[in-house]
Amino acid sequence: MKIHTIKGYINNLFIAEYDHGLLLLDGASPADLPVIEKFCLDTLKRPVSDIKLAVVTHMHPDHSGAAPLLRKKYGTRIAAYKNIDQWYKGPSGWLQHILDCLMAQIVAVRQETKIHKVFSQRITRPDFLVDGGDLLPGFPEWKVVYTPGHTAHDIAVFHAEKRILYCGDSIIVVKNRFYLPLPVIFKNKMRHSYKELASLGASTILIPHGNTIHTEDSREIFKEMLALLEEPPNRLRRRVHYFSVWSPDIWKPTVRRLLFG
Ligand SMILES: [Zn+2]
Repeated sequence: MKIHTIKGYINNLFIAEYDHGLLLLDGASPADLPVIEKFCLDTLKRPVSDIKLAVVTHMHPDHSGAAPLLRKKYGTRIAAYKNIDQWYKGPSGWLQHILDCLMAQIVAVRQETKIHKVFSQRITRPDFLVDGGDLLPGFPEWKVVYTPGHTAHDIAVFHAEKRILYCGDSIIVVKNRFYLPLPVIFKNKMRHSYKELASLGASTILIPHGNTIHTEDSREIFKEMLALLEEPPNRLRRRVHYFSVWSPDIWKPTVRRLLFG
């Protein structure tokens, strides 16, 4: 197995290469489709249809946008957390989806990237609905870790034998500094997710927004993430949070609690 890193539109993409097929981590932006195609054909010298599975770690457009396009064109199957399609459901989910696509585009503008289509599909309909502890279909060396906090349905995947972790948006790295994902919607869940991730003992952490981390003690990294979580949010975090509370997965439990205690 070999891990390849591809520079995508907004984030890094990773392909785990096996003789029997390619595993894409994770769902990428719609604008990444030609990048992935080119990488398979020119660098790996393999047909794009060799991508047997794409793991969509969460519904944000830069993590879910290319996977359905790959499925349509090349038959790539999609694995994602079991309740992923509730995130953008209904009218308020529709609004959240538009806001998230716009926020992804703002990130692209700030990164001074040439602007491409970022609008992703709102509903993914995964071929495999996974839960924490499940093994990835066709790639059983990789275990699913349920890591909610950034959304209600984030997952990470961990290769226990090689101690490689792909942690989705749980850690953001900018100029060798660690940052929390933007936003953290469920602080308590995020805290629990970091503890779970720390317990894995990863030595390589593949980061979509930032450089790959090589470490002999990943517990220290997650300890730092837990400390960041306790800091009061700055203005940017507060602002992004305000634009990120419209998913029915966020307001419905609150309304239910208020109505029924
Ligand atoms: Zn995200």
